[in-house]
Amino acid sequence: MLYQSTRGDTEKLSAAQAIVHGLSSDGGLLVPESIPHISIEAISELVSKPYYKRAAHIMGLFLSDFSNDELTRYSKTAYREPGFDHPAIAPLCKIDSKTHFMELWHGATCAFKDIALQVMPHLLTASLRKTGEKRDVCILVATSGDTGKAALEGFRDVPGIKIMVFYPHDGVSEVQKLQMTSQRGANVNVAGIQGNFDDAQTGVKAIFSDKDLCAQLNGGGYILSSANSINWGRLVPQVAYYFSAYCDLLGNGEIKPGEKINFCVPTGNFGNILSAYYARRMGLPIAKLICASNRNDVLTQFINTGVYDMNRMFYTTVSPSMDILVSSNLERLLFELSDKDGGAVASYMSALSENGCYEVPSGVHGNINDIFAPGFCSEGDTLETIADTFNDSGYLIDTHTAVAYKALKNYRQASGDRSAAVVVSTASAFKFCESVLEALGQSFTTGGVALIDTLSEVTGRPIPAPLAGLGSLAPRFPGSIGAHDMKSAVADFLLQSN
Ligand SMILES: *Cc1c(COP(=O)(O)O)cnc(C)c1O
Repeated sequence: MLYQSTRGDTEKLSAAQAIVHGLSSDGGLLVPESIPHISIEAISELVSKPYYKRAAHIMGLFLSDFSNDELTRYSKTAYREPGFDHPAIAPLCKIDSKTHFMELWHGATCAFKDIALQVMPHLLTASLRKTGEKRDVCILVATSGDTGKAALEGFRDVPGIKIMVFYPHDGVSEVQKLQMTSQRGANVNVAGIQGNFDDAQTGVKAIFSDKDLCAQLNGGGYILSSANSINWGRLVPQVAYYFSAYCDLLGNGEIKPGEKINFCVPTGNFGNILSAYYARRMGLPIAKLICASNRNDVLTQFINTGVYDMNRMFYTTVSPSMDILVSSNLERLLFELSDKDGGAVASYMSALSENGCYEVPSGVHGNINDIFAPGFCSEGDTLETIADTFNDSGYLIDTHTAVAYKALKNYRQASGDRSAAVVVSTASAFKFCESVLEALGQSFTTGGVALIDTLSEVTGRPIPAPLAGLGSLAPRFPGSIGAHDMKSAVADFLLQSN
């Protein structure tokens, strides 16, 4: 299967090339030329298989230049204990007869990004070999908090690879910040920037398209790549867990083969929910995808009106990993829902960069509404949902998952749709102790990572192993830089150590 740009460039790339390059040379995102189909019989055959075999099978449908043997090896290495602290890797937790939470935070950094970023280094290393690339790769990451740490863990000390992470210095939780700034490994670098996630993402995109800098880095023996969800290698492992959830529901007799279910996804950069969209297109019986937003509800407005307008206030919320106004992966959806009209997508994207706004035609808007339902959750409702869920069922959820759960409740009330639904649970509550404790009505005087212990005492839940002992680590990468200094930071990191 070959990959093409969302912006009309006619060049076709192999999966390995798509993973190495990250972006198309015309600035578009890379998408598969066609979407593979999987029958309900084939889905049912995955029910008896462990997670890593399900993942290898689904990834193989897209990554045709990788053998099933290779993919099975990579996913077996990535998806196992103790790297993940649950044998099911992405277990479901049933909270009432129609509602399940898919817990995607049992990996190395306690957020869903681990599912992709534990296997992606294997995919990238193999892709470099397959494409005959001899230079080293520098992965640049813009993070709203969770991708950064997950990428650092996934890529640390991987031969031939360096990684540099940019995060909003004042826009992440204390746990997220210390997780990144205390990162070990000889090939890593971390910089807080004075700006928000969108500034970090814009800065990284500018570095990719800076021909002079890229030539200079090439001269130093480096090519740049991305571990953000603009890279296809990030999305394809995420498609697998939607199938895995469906298999678990089938296996437990919760649903019948072919029965349609809904997923509700807390959304920022649109990567997670886009993976669900691909699963649906492949034939996974999904009715609606509920796209849950926090106060930065640019996607809610877009799904409601067909107008994407980022000329609005940016809020720092209790669900910081969703504090995003430019959802990059929406570009892939627009391409799929506009009959693969790369020219149309290119014009939306240039309107977005020139005016901060674009509108899709009513046909495309109708296609979006057939599949997606918008869901909004305020700051107050986020905290209330955490408290209600814990008090009613003893189930502890983080702020992002709470946004999704509340959005699901709102959707059910408005639509009357009572289909079985899976709330995608994207992070451990222990990453966002301060907000979760506040939600539970606890007052505290100290702040920061010391609250990990407090949350455990208050809730009686064990501290996830990757977060235990975090408080005793000293930051290796303190301080921050201006957003305009990102280029020179990359040059210094790569060319000084050369
Ligand atoms: C990254 C992240 C999200 C948003 O996911 P996208 O793929 O960017 O839409 C939601 N919740 C958590 C905890 C995250 O880390």
